[in-house]
Amino acid sequence: MRLSQLLESDRLRAPAREIPVMLRTQVLVCGGGPAGTAAAIAAARLGVSVTLIERYNHLGGLATGGLVIILPPLTDEGRPIVGGIGLHMRDTLMQDGKAAPRGHEDACWFDPEALKALSVRMCVEAGVDLLHHAWLSDTIVQDGSVRGVVFESKAGTQAALADVVVDTTGDGDVLAWAGCDFEKTDQAIGLDFRLGGVDVELWHTARQTNPDVCTAVLAEVRKTCDWGGPFQISALPSSPGLAWGNNGLRVGDALDPRELSTIDVQARLKIPQALEILRQKMPGFADAWLIDTASQTGVRRSRRLRGVDRLTDEQVAQYDFRHPQAVGRGNDYRRQGIAYDIPYGTLVPESIDGLVTAGRCISCDDGALEPIREIQVCWVTGEAAGTAAALAARGNLRPRDLPITDLQATLREASVAFAD
Ligand SMILES: Cc1cc2nc3c(=O)[nH]c(=O)nc-3n(C[C@H](O)[C@H](O)[C@H](O)COP(=O)(O)OP(=O)(O)OC[C@H]3O[C@@H](n4cnc5c(N)ncnc54)[C@H](O)[C@@H]3O)c2cc1C
Repeated sequence: MRLSQLLESDRLRAPAREIPVMLRTQVLVCGGGPAGTAAAIAAARLGVSVTLIERYNHLGGLATGGLVIILPPLTDEGRPIVGGIGLHMRDTLMQDGKAAPRGHEDACWFDPEALKALSVRMCVEAGVDLLHHAWLSDTIVQDGSVRGVVFESKAGTQAALADVVVDTTGDGDVLAWAGCDFEKTDQAIGLDFRLGGVDVELWHTARQTNPDVCTAVLAEVRKTCDWGGPFQISALPSSPGLAWGNNGLRVGDALDPRELSTIDVQARLKIPQALEILRQKMPGFADAWLIDTASQTGVRRSRRLRGVDRLTDEQVAQYDFRHPQAVGRGNDYRRQGIAYDIPYGTLVPESIDGLVTAGRCISCDDGALEPIREIQVCWVTGEAAGTAAALAARGNLRPRDLPITDLQATLREASVAFAD
């Protein structure tokens, strides 16, 4: 590119160029978090060709790279909520000793490395083509339908074409570039971390006998380090001496790289500072050391699709919200006694074709996002979106025209939980 000819004030005029098509597939899954992993496995198991594009070198998204390591319950007072791929993943982690029960019901802690390995193994066994180290940068739309994506990598700019594309980027990148309407909200962004060398027994005893001291130390960390959002430390029963720091530094725009960089820099400066206070003042932390900080910055929310349907806060707060077009069920990590159907229309854009979404960018209001963005619900919407994409690709149908009874029957066969 000869910049002297292309520079116009503060904007570059990009010359027209040909972008090589690297691959063609029936279903293209964009983003390998919990939703994308489930989508890719579900689609590939139905016999269509599937490629999953991911910018980092692992699967699991925030659940693994973000060190978000609590899995909420998959049942509600005995009612099955999450079945299918999500239930299989949780049960496998438990059987392998890579997850440990947490509190009541069937919530658990899990080992993020074990979930990375399990996610890859299940993708490989299902026949998913994994393309890592590729950053999606644009969506190809023709005649109102998504035809593929453009991505950047060390190999330059390339394109991938598909019959159906699944947006599981979490931030709704693909749907936004396709021209779909979306909503967006910001929430505290943080950088989770793990500590080793914690005398958990001493710490737990101190919390029982002298809770005010422990609370005061955490308050001092927040104040001294100017921590704008939550700052919690929990022991990890999956490994002795391990503790987890879940936090939010401040509310920020997850789509602004400057903002994300500032949060990263601040977090990496503040976490050692926080550790020093813990070492000096928190019982059981005298020998604590920083094992790692998350490789993926902790973005809780950003864009959400405006879909054919939209789940609301009121609907997801019900004991048993039912919808005739359900493609799975969700619950709420904050309270038992909640189970709601997730309508297919929350995964399908209002106008654009060739695209479905899953995970934390599905169509819902701000309040409904809080339970929907949890890992177990992202597995549910991912499995539904991948199944829908495969059936649409196989039948040469637009996702919006898929007979809902076919989709529901296929999901039931895959042991996805539906209301009785
Ligand atoms: C600090 C924090 C604490 C949390 N605590 C919990 C908890 O305790 N329990 C719980 O269940 N949930 C928790 N969550 C929420 C949960 O982890 C996420 O909402 C969930 O992982 C979302 O899954 P997803 O698949 O929709 O998106 P993500 O996990 O965000 O995955 C999206 C994937 O797409 C990839 N991607 C994105 N954009 C591009 C692009 N342009 N090109 C290529 N690849 C791209 C990303 O690298 C990533 O792998 C927490 C979240 C945060 C931030």
